[in-house]
Formats: sequence, structure tokens, C-alpha cells
Amino acid sequence: MSQIDDLPPLRDVIATHQLSARKALGQNFLLDLNLTARIARVAGDLSGMDVLEVGPGPGGLTRGLLSEGARRVLAIEKDARCLPALAEIGAACPGRLEVIEGDALKVDPLAYLEPPIAICANLPYNVGTELLTRWLTPPEWPPFWTTLTLMFQKEVAERIVAQPGSKAYGRLALLSQWRCDAHIALTLPPGAFTPPPKVSSAVVHLKALPEPRFPAQQKILERVVATAFNQRRKMLRSSLKGMAADIEDRLNAVGIPPTERAEQVSLEAFCALARTFET
Ligand code: SAM
Repeated sequence: MSQIDDLPPLRDVIATHQLSARKALGQNFLLDLNLTARIARVAGDLSGMDVLEVGPGPGGLTRGLLSEGARRVLAIEKDARCLPALAEIGAACPGRLEVIEGDALKVDPLAYLEPPIAICANLPYNVGTELLTRWLTPPEWPPFWTTLTLMFQKEVAERIVAQPGSKAYGRLALLSQWRCDAHIALTLPPGAFTPPPKVSSAVVHLKALPEPRFPAQQKILERVVATAFNQRRKMLRSSLKGMAADIEDRLNAVGIPPTERAEQVSLEAFCALARTFET
């Protein structure tokens, strides 16, 4: 048995360090180490990789990542109460776990990690989509990470993998699928967490493509998509009217009927439309 398997059960860790869950920090803990190892395995072979984990809490997923062989884990946690529990994990695998007390929205992980880098987290729901959007829109592509393995509320996970024609299809699906392969790897009921959240959760796996699936300039694509979905029930000739006086001609030129609504339009067609705005 490795030292990490000798650590006490997470229920005992939580009791010892008095880690009662705080709603304001989005704290819903995973206490089943079989489950956290399974989530770590969704990330793929971690043996030659550094892993960024946001919000380790008492360290269930951290233990999974380390026991599944991650080269090093950088864990960024806002709640100082969790640090002693995380220090015990660090002591069980010397040199492989670095913990930073702080806000993941403010820490630059590249100061600590070396490629190849995987990101794996049971995200605090209040910052989850903001972090995902940041990771998906870096200044340059490919990004600093190769894969994202992230727990979200199931409804958010469905928006990431949604296809045209579904209610969940929108900005997040287009942004995610433009430069990544994305799928839902696991769905978990509320009872998998302590305390149980109100809704089900899902683990999404995103793998960065070396290049965007279809050419487009990021800022332009984002603007076209945001404008189209701002009024998702309207026909595109009307929702996109403000972007160009000749919007109908542009839509026709790329094969999108001007009477179509945003949720019917494929990623490929949105990219083609965005290219008409390039100078
Ligand atoms: N990873 C643990 C698990 O699976 O049991 C805890 C997951 S819990 C859903 C989210 C964790 O993120 C909490 O420990 C919370 O304190 C932490 N957190 C919340 N906001 C954060 C932020 N802005 N930066 C870093 N950690 C944050």
C-alpha cells in the first residue's frame, strides 16, 4: 500500500478538521475515494502530467489524482480551513502536491506547473462557468492545458456538449466545441455529494484540438454567437441586424437562411459567417 492509501477516510478528515460545508463557497464534497479515483481516470493517463485542481476542499479528488499517478498536483483552495487536511496528503506523497491558498480566478497556475498539463476539478458552482470560459478563450491556441475534466451541474454539462436544434445549444456549446472534443463522461446523483446539492451533476471531458475545428477569429466568432443568441427566438436577419446593414446577403452567402434561428445553426456555419466580418 502506498502512503496515500494509509490516509484516514474523508469522513474522519472532515470531522477532525471541522470542515462543515459552506454554501457560499459552493462546497459539496465527494467522500467516496472509489468515485474520485474514477473521476481522475476520466482525465486519462496522468503519469507524465502536471495537474491543476481548483477547489480541492478536504482532498478527495486530490487523493484520486495522486493515486492515479499524476506527476504533480497544484491545488488552489480558497478556504483556509482545508489547508491542514491537504497538508496531510502532501506529506504522504512528498514533492507531488503543492497547495495554494487563494482564489483560482486570480492565481496564475503557469508559475507553478510544467506542460503537459491537465485540469481536473469538482468546481465550485459559482465560479465554474467563468473558469471554463477563461480556459476556452486564452490569448493563443493551443492553450496551456491539454485536457479539462470538470464537474458541473448536469444542466451546465449538457449546455457544453449540446448539438444544434436543442434548447441547451448556445454560446457555451459553440465555444467548447469549436476548439475541443467534448463529452459527458459520468453523471452523478445529488446523493454522491456531502451535503447533497439540489440537482444532479456531471463530469465533462474536453480535449483541446491542435487547431480550431473551423477557421475563424475568436473575438469575431464570440461576438456573432453572443449577438445571435441574445435574442435566440428571433430570426437571424433580425437578431444580427445591428452587426451589418447587409446581414441578409452575408447569411445567404454562407448558406444560412436569414429566417433561421440561432439554435438551428451549426458551428461550421457560424464560423463561416464570422469570417465574413474579417478584414
Ligand atoms: N474537490 C472537493 C471535492 O470534490 O470534494 C471540493 C469540491 S467543492 C464543490 C468546491 C471547492 O472549491 C470548495 O472546497 C471551495 O472552498 C473551493 N472554492 C470555492 N471558490 C473558490 C475559488 N474562487 N478558488 C479556489 N477554490 C474555491
